[in-house]
Amino acid sequence: MGQYTPMIQQYLQVKADYKDAFLFFRLGDFYEMFFEDALKASQELEITLTSRDGGGNERIPMCGVPYHAAANYIDVLIEKGHKVAICEQVEDPKQSKGVVRREVVQLITPGTKMEGKGLREKENNYIVAISTFEDGYGIAYTDLSTGENSVTIIENHFDLVLNELSIIGAKEVVVQSQFKDHLQKQLQERLNATISIEDDISEKPDYRKLLSTINEHSMRISIIRLFNYLYRTQKRNLDHLQPVAIVEINQFLKIDYYSKRNLEITETIRSKGKKGSLLWLLDEAMTAMGGRLLKHWLDRPLINQKEIEQRQLVVETFIEHFFERQDIREKLKEVYDLERLAGRVAFGNVNARDLIQLKSSLQQIPIIRQLIEQLELDFVEQLDPCEELVDVLERAIIDNPPLSIKEGGIIKDGYNEELDKYRDASRNGKNWLAQLEQEERSRTGIKSLKIGYNRVFGYFIEVTKSNLHLLEEGRYDRKQTLANAERFITPELKEKESLILQAEEKSVELEYELFLQIREVVKEYIPRLQNLAKIVSEIDVLQCFATISESRHYVKPLFNSERKVIIKEGRHPVVEKVMNAQEYVPNDCYMDAERELLLITGPNMSGKSTYMRQIALTSILAQIGCFVPAREAILPIFDQVFTRIGAADDLISGQSTFMVEMLEAKNAIANATKNSLILFDEIGRGTSTYDGMALAQAIIEYIHTQIGAKTLFSTHYHELTVLAETLPQLKNVHVSAIEQNGTVVFLHKIKEGPADKSYGIHVAELAELPKELIVRANEILRQLENQNNKHEQVAPKKEEHSLKQLSLFEETDTKVKKEITSKEKKIVEELKDINLLELNPLQAMNTLYELQKKLKG
Ligand code: ADP
Ligand code: MG
Repeated sequence: MGQYTPMIQQYLQVKADYKDAFLFFRLGDFYEMFFEDALKASQELEITLTSRDGGGNERIPMCGVPYHAAANYIDVLIEKGHKVAICEQVEDPKQSKGVVRREVVQLITPGTKMEGKGLREKENNYIVAISTFEDGYGIAYTDLSTGENSVTIIENHFDLVLNELSIIGAKEVVVQSQFKDHLQKQLQERLNATISIEDDISEKPDYRKLLSTINEHSMRISIIRLFNYLYRTQKRNLDHLQPVAIVEINQFLKIDYYSKRNLEITETIRSKGKKGSLLWLLDEAMTAMGGRLLKHWLDRPLINQKEIEQRQLVVETFIEHFFERQDIREKLKEVYDLERLAGRVAFGNVNARDLIQLKSSLQQIPIIRQLIEQLELDFVEQLDPCEELVDVLERAIIDNPPLSIKEGGIIKDGYNEELDKYRDASRNGKNWLAQLEQEERSRTGIKSLKIGYNRVFGYFIEVTKSNLHLLEEGRYDRKQTLANAERFITPELKEKESLILQAEEKSVELEYELFLQIREVVKEYIPRLQNLAKIVSEIDVLQCFATISESRHYVKPLFNSERKVIIKEGRHPVVEKVMNAQEYVPNDCYMDAERELLLITGPNMSGKSTYMRQIALTSILAQIGCFVPAREAILPIFDQVFTRIGAADDLISGQSTFMVEMLEAKNAIANATKNSLILFDEIGRGTSTYDGMALAQAIIEYIHTQIGAKTLFSTHYHELTVLAETLPQLKNVHVSAIEQNGTVVFLHKIKEGPADKSYGIHVAELAELPKELIVRANEILRQLENQNNKHEQVAPKKEEHSLKQLSLFEETDTKVKKEITSKEKKIVEELKDINLLELNPLQAMNTLYELQKKLKG
């Protein structure tokens, strides 16, 4: 390192502490990057790569971005999951001997963004810390922009951790350096999260208040790891962090990540965007805070009937009072993001415009409070208008302040005596200048004489060349010559100038100081503002439920503890909205102790999937406290919802192999209880017909006898419908379709009993496949049906079912064993040795083909 110039040595020293970040090294008006960073950044940011001599043998790669435009470049890097360390000059270059001292002042990471593009209004930006304990994982998460903190303990399954982190939407995950590599890899692959390391878990005095709610040791450690990371990287006061909330996952309706995705709750499968999701349908929130809370509630529906009914009550009240609700909506629209404003106040990057927003937001509160009072809702007391703060802001800050907080023009006249004095001085001075101009004009008789100002010479008197002879000798001091004018000063002018400039400089300085003081005042209010934000966002979400429920004709669901589902004329909320409401065919659903499983048959495109999802979404809407799309709804309170789409149907997720389908089916089967809702949509389609059908049947039998969860099972295996004869709690329903002139017309109507026929070929006809092909398909179908009649449907085994019986090699039936020849034995061995996880579907097909060939040949 010795041969490098001192500045490059300094760079390398700083960089050694920030190996996993781009180091933005401040040099004058630029942030420069060197070496590897420069090579990578020039690519990522598409900026020119240059080089400089740094004292070493070779020139050093270098690239840079201008200081004033850095925010955009930082955004780009953060969006791509990188980290950026901001290294500033921390002493005045004029006063330093040798190289100016530089220090990293902040590490910006995907999980610690406070502003910019990546920060979406209606979404939280969470950073998560995972700590490993003997009996589980501690998960702590913070949204630095709003100051929310939560912690939860998850039992010893990393899958559950991944699931939780997907729901939280973690952008960055902090772990200890000992954290297992393969788990880190899963975090990166499954969540696309940036990984950061924090080993310090010692508690700091600053945390005492934040941790006051937490006693449990592992919870404390988890959140302390996160706080230590935040304080270490942000290097500033984080006064807006809120006391840590304990999240008990078991106190909410559990919907695993895949089910959420399949149900398109917060984003659609296809576009991964919000549009078309349940969140999109519901989002009539007027504030950003409300938007975030809505998403939060959708992520964690309730299971406590009282709590749900409390929400329902408010929704009902809002529905009954249209005009008050409209007024509240109008007022909410004027309320800015109080949580993030509070965050910026604490972080120290709030400007005067933000404070004006804060003021005008707070000014809405008394009006909202009055409206809420009229409706006799409970929130009244908690709607804290922070009047004293409004008063300070009203007195202190002008209505249209500039963005910059360092150039004055922020503070109102009359707020501070000293400031007024400076302002008077500078205003008087300016009057004096105007007067002087008049005097000089009349003294000299030069009408065009004027007084001007520039940075280099200050105030001057300007006279055109043709008028120079009119000036009194010796009175004016020439300063500058222009093409057709000359500029002069007088001692009198200079004296006044220094007074004016001093006053201006002082007033700008004082304004900045006053602004900082006001910011400190606002800081005192942060907890109150955060509480207010919570209430406002709750009111916002509940008015949003009311608005949707009213405009879309939803009904208030009732709950029962007999595990009955009674939905009359139910609709799929999103499909109904997307298509013309008149065209949507409503459907009933009836389930009780005699009808635990509904086996849904019917042609493709008839509406099976839509119907199943409609039931799940209706339950979720009910459990977040919203009304539901139906004429009448009586529901149980579900503890969990599982949704699995057969691999063949699930074209979107790239990794969807049959193995994944089975893993997810297992997840449902292993975790569901009597109080759960399971949707299995065409499960078993990802493998060959008999194989798949056997599995589907076994799964149905297992759920029926072992779990007893409310289950909707759609299938195109028409053969399964005979199960209703032997499984008493299983009932067949079908989606009807009628044939008109040889084509199929879907009625989308759910009816009792099995579908009578497969309409696949007619659908193919609808799609206008060639006529001869359709004729041929009909022929083949007849042949197959004839053959099939020879096979009997395998009668379901009664009672004592267990999944074990599916396992080929534990088969105890001696008859089967006897018949196995040595050749077959070898093939079975081969089959055993195949590592399914290493095969793609095509290779699996080929392998199967080879094995089958050996068996036959
Ligand atoms: P399946 O699962 O039986 O193949 P889907 O549930 O995917 O069928 O439905 C296919 C299409 O039919 C949907 O995209 C929707 O446009 C329409 N559809 C489904 N249910 C209804 C309904 N109840 N009313 C009107 N149209 C419906
Ligand atoms: Mg379907």
